[in-house]
This record gives sequence, C-alpha cells and structure tokens, in this order.
Amino acid sequence: MRFPYPPRPLQRQTLGLMERALEGGHLVLQAGTGSGKTVCALYAALTQAEEEDRVVLYLVRTNSQQRQVMLELRKLGPFGIALQGRQRLCLLAEDRHLGPGSADELSHFCRDRKEEVLAGKEGCRFFRGLLEGDGEAMRRWVQETHPTAEEARAHFRAQGICPYELNRVLASQARMITAPYVYFFEPNLRRTLLETLARPPEDVLLIVDEAHNLPAHCRDVGSFRVSAKAVERAEKELMDYGDPEVAEGVSAFDLLEIVAGGLRDLAAEYVIEEDGFLPPLALEGRAMQEFAITTSQLRGMLGSLAAAGEAIREVRRRTGSLPRSHTLGVAQNLLRWMTTEDLAYAKLILGGERPALHAYCLDPSWVAEPIRACHASLHMSGTLAPLEEYRDTLGLPPDTLLRAFPSPFPPENRRVVYRDHVTTRYQELHETPEAMARLRDEVRILLRDCRRNTLFLFPSYRLLESFLDLRRESQVPVFVERRGMDQAALMRSLDAFRRSTAALFAVVGGRVSEGLDFPDRELEVVVLVGIPYPKPTAALRALVRYYDWKFQKGWEYGVLAPTTRRLLQCMGRLIRSERDRGIVIILDRRAPLFKRALGPMVLTEDPSRAIREHLNPPETVRVASP
Ligand code: SF4
Repeated sequence: MRFPYPPRPLQRQTLGLMERALEGGHLVLQAGTGSGKTVCALYAALTQAEEEDRVVLYLVRTNSQQRQVMLELRKLGPFGIALQGRQRLCLLAEDRHLGPGSADELSHFCRDRKEEVLAGKEGCRFFRGLLEGDGEAMRRWVQETHPTAEEARAHFRAQGICPYELNRVLASQARMITAPYVYFFEPNLRRTLLETLARPPEDVLLIVDEAHNLPAHCRDVGSFRVSAKAVERAEKELMDYGDPEVAEGVSAFDLLEIVAGGLRDLAAEYVIEEDGFLPPLALEGRAMQEFAITTSQLRGMLGSLAAAGEAIREVRRRTGSLPRSHTLGVAQNLLRWMTTEDLAYAKLILGGERPALHAYCLDPSWVAEPIRACHASLHMSGTLAPLEEYRDTLGLPPDTLLRAFPSPFPPENRRVVYRDHVTTRYQELHETPEAMARLRDEVRILLRDCRRNTLFLFPSYRLLESFLDLRRESQVPVFVERRGMDQAALMRSLDAFRRSTAALFAVVGGRVSEGLDFPDRELEVVVLVGIPYPKPTAALRALVRYYDWKFQKGWEYGVLAPTTRRLLQCMGRLIRSERDRGIVIILDRRAPLFKRALGPMVLTEDPSRAIREHLNPPETVRVASP
C-alpha cells in the first residue's frame, strides 16, 4: 500500500506519531482542516493492520464523514465496509412504511422476517434475494467499488438484496469498517459489531474522527429519561390494548397517572429556568404514599407494568408491526431510575411543557471503557483542546500521547480581535440596562458597516431573538438561523447568504456554527456576540461538582473546556483553505481567558476598522481611496 499523495512535512510528523501510538497506545491529536489527518490515520492503521492481521474500526459522527473515509479508502485499496444501522438500510421497513423504529425494534422485526424465510414462508424478499443471489459477485462489487452506505443501498435495492445483511456477512472479511460512534459505545450494538467482525477487541485499531463530540456522545449513551410525553404515549397504548392490574385494585393506567402528575408537580417545585435537582425518592415517595406501599412493592408494580408492555409488544409483533411498547419503555426506565444510586449520575427534573426525569451521566469514562480494550486508538479533531481534559474525561491512560498541530494555513490569514467594554455575562446583561445597550450598539455598528459576508454567532436563541429588530438598520440582507427551522429552509437561507454580501445571525452549537463550510468569500468575518459559556443549569452544576471531586478541576473541565471547543468550532468556519482570509471579532472582555487555546488576539477600539484593515491589503486601500 502506498501513501496516495506526496506527503507534506506535517503529514510525515502525523504519520510518525500515529505509527508510535498504533504499536499499542493511544493518541489524542488536534490537527485542523486541510492537515490530511483522515488519510494519514487510514494509511498508518491499515498498514499496521495488514502486517499484524488486525482490523481498523473508523468511527464517525456524520454520514458525510463516513463518505469521506470511503473516498480516501478507494485511493488506498484495502477491503472496507461502510456500516449503517437497519434504520437506514432496512429496505423492507421502508417498503412497508413502518416509520422510524429503534435499533431494538427493527432487530426483532428483522429476525422474525428472516425466520419466516427460512421456514419457507414469505418473510423478507430482500433477505431471500441475499440467500439466492451470487454471493461472490456481491463481494467482488463491494471490494472493487468501496461503496458508501448510500451507494451500496441503491445498488443492492435495485437487485432485491438486503444491504444490511450483506454488510454483516462481508464485515468479517474486511480490513476496515467505518461506522457511527453508537456502534461501538452502545453495549448491545458493540456486542453485535464484534460478533459480526468475529474479532476480539484486542484485534481492533480504533480511530475516532471529530473526536471532540465523543465525551458528549458517551454522556448521552449513559443517560436516560422518563418524559411526560412517553408516559402519555404509554397511557394511550393502554387504552388501545387494555389496562391490566399491576397490583390489587391498581390498574397500569392508575400508576401512570401518578407518574404523570408527579412529573408536573416536581417540575413546578424544583425547576429553575430549565432543570432542577430532585431530592431522593421525590417521585417514588408520591407513588408509595398514594398506594400506601413500600419501595419493593413499588418495584413489583413496575415489574407488572413492564410485563403488560411486553404483552403489548408481542401482540404487535404477531401482526407484523414493529414490536414496540411505550409502556415497556416507561416501566424499564422507571425501574432503572429507582436503582440508579451512583455518584456518577445527577438525578434531575427537566421543565417545559412536557417535563421529564433525567438521569444525567456525569462520567463518560465508563461508557468509553471499551476503548482501553482495543489494541490502540487514535482520536482526532480540529478542535480538541484542552487535550488533557479530553484524555481524563474519557479515562484514557496517563501515558496517552497528546499533540496539537498548528493550522496548516498561513497564520497571518486569520486575525482575532476583541472588545473589552462589553460582555454577555448573565448577571450583568440582565441586571444592567447599559450593558445590553452597549452590546446592541456594537452589533448595530457592525451591521451598518457590513461590506463582507459576516456571521454573527449568539450564545442562545433567546439572545439572538432580542437582536432581530436591528435588521431594520442593516445596509445588507440579514439571514437568520431560527429556532426549530427545517433543514430545507435553512439551506435556502444559507445559499442566499453565500451568493450575496450579507449578514447571518446564528447560534453557537447550532447547525451553522458546527460542520458547515464557507470557503473563500462566502464568509470573511465571524462576530462572536459574547463568550458561549454553557448555561448555568443544574446539570452543569452537578458536572462541575463531580469533576471537582474526581479531578479537583470542576471549573476547568466542566466549563472552560467545552467553551474553548465551542469557540474553536466557531472560528473554524472562517479559514478552510490556504487562500481563505478572515477576521474574528469577539464582543466580550473575557476573551483573553482563552488566549492559550485560540492563539494571539488583540484589543480593538474600532472593529469595523479592524475588518477593513485585515481584509483590504494596504495597496488596495490606497487605490480605492479618493
Ligand atoms: Fe430489513 Fe434486511 Fe432484515 Fe429484510 S433482511 S427485514 S430488509 S434488515
């Protein structure tokens, strides 16, 4: 196998580091867009995998990342598979218009249909197509084409063959598998994946792309909720399928009514802004009092509720529907809620129209534990700093290699300036009218002077919405990423923004600030309206407390680290190639706190002038001046 491009000096260094880690360690690498880290990781890992008969597992967050991996693999050659779940690849579920199903529901549905085929009944025609087709021709096509999941799906649909089952058959022969994160971090899916690969974890060389997303992903996998919406669905299900007793004189519906009422009351009592801490047994105590029962009797009732849910699921299964039961889901999560005592969980109540219990997983390291069972792992992103926090949060070993490479683009192409008389500090902004007036003035002037495509990023929709009236004073069109906007409408706005000289209002952490590219003149100025600290929710307070206890670094790991990564993400929209030139204006006096991670920044008295000076080279200014 040959490296497919003439390697640049930075890529040689990257390859060297990766090869060292792949001998049996872990590497956390920050390297920006344009550094070629995807092809370096694939080349280094595949070379080692071929020498030592291992398998490369390349984890991605989005379909476009997975596509990029397959495109690079085509240049390298080895046999690779792009795995996706049944949610995307089950052709029968699509034909029968079954709607969105969970991985577990589709797995049961699929198993039944395959058993029907094997028993000589109709079952799934795509599975029959797989059994009766020319397996060697299928394998050859996949091996030679290196298809993306979408390409494989389209190709095999036309032949009446199930791409999901075919992938599972071929995966054990592949040298590289690329799959969404969830396939490795959700315990049931990981078990299936390793069975499919027919490999122990020690044979796996793991690559995590866009790794800055991994801690939050692992927290999500470890967390769970019981929402009023789920309880409503379960109640409706009981009305449709029957309402059995869960204890003498208590029906399943009665029990769910207590839960629904408890959620509403607890939300009213404990939620501040969007969530709140719950005292021990807050919900359980209500049910125990209402029915005059003990904790173990309540568990018994929930066990009966789960049994009622299983019966519903069985009925649906027999009729060929997705084997789903909301009643079962609510019962299982309530039982889990009652038995979750771990320090690594915060028990919260979420507010809003439909409140929810939220068991928030504070420690993603136990979800990430399987990483340590792999032979080696490479974690890569353009925005991973601070690297120590990433290593510690995920529980990677202390000897993990940590490296941050500078951007491969000329550093003088990007300038960062900040204003020191404004801030979005919550108390100041809400308690001092002059603070808000000063911030609005800054945005007003920047809109008035806007001559370059400018992205204004606000820390929240609420703040963004309070600036919308300033659009009237703008000389250029102002597009807005609105709360809950559908994807097509957002793309239309972005297309219009890219084609004109305009401003765009969006939020940090939204779809615009992460993952979208604006090359060349499509974006030349990013205005950060304040530092995007996480909201001071109960969940955040619990996280800070936990990291104080575990690392004595609550503020650094709970607040500063995610804020730094958000800032890096926002600023990353600006420079995507060697030719790009751009300027970042930070409207917050707290900006210098992040100098170490963001690089040089200077104070400015006049942001509009700073923009002109950076984006108009001096010769141009002279020629353009009267
Ligand atoms: Fe769906 Fe494939 Fe299973 Fe058929 S065999 S039910 S198409 S996943």
